[in-house]
Amino acid sequence: MGWFRDWLMAIRDVLLPRGCAGCDEPDAVLCGACSRLFSMDLVRPLPGIISGICLCCADYDAEARQAILAWKDHGDEECVGEFGRAMGDRLARWVVGDGRALMESGHPAVALVPVPSSLSSIRRRGRWHMEGLARVVGKRLRDSGIDAIVVPAISLDRRMRRSVEVGGRRGRARRMDGGVSLVEPQRDVLRRSARSGACVCVVDDIVTTGETMRRCCRTLREAGVDVDVAMALARTPPPMP
Ligand SMILES: [Zn+2]
Repeated sequence: MGWFRDWLMAIRDVLLPRGCAGCDEPDAVLCGACSRLFSMDLVRPLPGIISGICLCCADYDAEARQAILAWKDHGDEECVGEFGRAMGDRLARWVVGDGRALMESGHPAVALVPVPSSLSSIRRRGRWHMEGLARVVGKRLRDSGIDAIVVPAISLDRRMRRSVEVGGRRGRARRMDGGVSLVEPQRDVLRRSARSGACVCVVDDIVTTGETMRRCCRTLREAGVDVDVAMALARTPPPMP
């Protein structure tokens, strides 16, 4: 049914010129003001990985939240270019700056590992949105002279996929507990790149408690791959004191 959706979107673009995904300003995928919301240098602590941090481009709030929801759940796939650029630029700065010490080879290389989605989410959205975003981030890094590959090495296993219908943050963390598994051929690709000195980076859309990231990083570590850094498009704002 992909052709049908593409056809509908082509008709929509002719009849209804698009507005900014964040604030609806006319004729922009993301207007200047909303783009700037994604160019922040934010950090969340993430114990258990080499750098101990998750880099984030935006606070998941107001127009940034609106734009992310439009891309993630309402089929506004054009946003992926803007988001990928924001994440790629942020990660490139980190890799050649703070991350340099992590790279034994001295040659800047990054292996991007997208956080998995459940099969029901992939069906509902018609795509694995994080894999698509990771591919745009990878291209942006390569355009900046960094050798980047995307390795979709983590999935939710079949046993857990049957029970992914229950919503809520706590439910998600519990499901992810035993549900994260490694995809065999990609695991070996990831191991090889980590051994040759690439910076291993797990990427997600929104970091809230960091629990999903931690599960993924732990699964990789148990398979002999240490994660250097994590990256999310946005973080939920820190709780009020
Ligand atoms: Zn806007």
